[in-house]
Amino acid sequence: MVLTAPGQPLREIWRQQLPLPAAGQVRIRMSACGVCRTDLHIVDGELPWPGHAVVPGHEIVGRIGALGPGVTGLAVGQRVGVPWVGWTCGRCAYCQAGRENLCPQAEFTGWQREGGYADQVLADARHVFALPEGYGDAQAAPLLCAGLIGWRAYTMAGADARRIGLYGFGAAAHLIAQVAHHQGREVHAFTRPGDTAARALALELGAAWAGDSDQPPPVPLDAALLFAPVGALVPKALQAVRPGGIVVCAGIHMSDIPSFPYAWLWGERRLVSVANLTRRDGDEFLRVAATVALQIHTHTYPLDQAPQALDDLRAGRFTGAAVLLGR
Ligand SMILES: [Zn+2]
Ligand SMILES: [Zn+2]
Repeated sequence: MVLTAPGQPLREIWRQQLPLPAAGQVRIRMSACGVCRTDLHIVDGELPWPGHAVVPGHEIVGRIGALGPGVTGLAVGQRVGVPWVGWTCGRCAYCQAGRENLCPQAEFTGWQREGGYADQVLADARHVFALPEGYGDAQAAPLLCAGLIGWRAYTMAGADARRIGLYGFGAAAHLIAQVAHHQGREVHAFTRPGDTAARALALELGAAWAGDSDQPPPVPLDAALLFAPVGALVPKALQAVRPGGIVVCAGIHMSDIPSFPYAWLWGERRLVSVANLTRRDGDEFLRVAATVALQIHTHTYPLDQAPQALDDLRAGRFTGAAVLLGR
């Protein structure tokens, strides 16, 4: 499925089998690919257009069909996952310091690099993850962005954050709520006003409290993670955290943040963003996912119904994570 310009419909194109992978690459046959809010931001033109047609999709699960020269540690037939960060330079100061998520030359899967809304994809072998057993292909897909970037946001909250608020209870929050609950933290879920299905899911997955995002929590929070791309929630989240607390914005795009009194930031509250992910985040989170049996709520679509999946995500028509299935 190809997008030739932002705001245009995704189109299905047919092509020959992809070429044999180049040095350092693997060719993967897609079996499942998650549909992420970032895909919507790309399709809707809210992120810069890369200057060429885009095959979206950066939560790719599949099996390796061919290895390029020089690839070690992976095997033909192996099930792997491809995340959002698809290539980094390995040489810049950020890469050298283990902060490859900030590499200025990084290329992203399903944006600069062809993504998983396709039968096959070529990936840089250094940025491919082995996946924990115990999750089916469709279940494993949301681990690769909702899980991974959710994990990075969650670790930024700090190990001493006991009461955690999650704003926007979609794919990422429904995974991180379970991890937080498993680790003995108190989860407060803030959902779109009136979204009773998301509230019910949050409580079922261990949240101590669930309410509308325009309400204050019943107790001050140590940390708030924002997964909804709604800038107006930032001042609300700052008012919900205690002095010394932190608000983490986890999305790649957000509507403008309205101005607010300095008093809401005062008290050494911190407001930070999370950008992308590192391979270390991936290794850590996938180890957690292997030990905590996460319940992963998916809403599946055949690959050629990707436009419908994106529409449903935009309109909030399902709970959990949308996943395209390979054919
Ligand atoms: Zn994503
Ligand atoms: Zn770099």
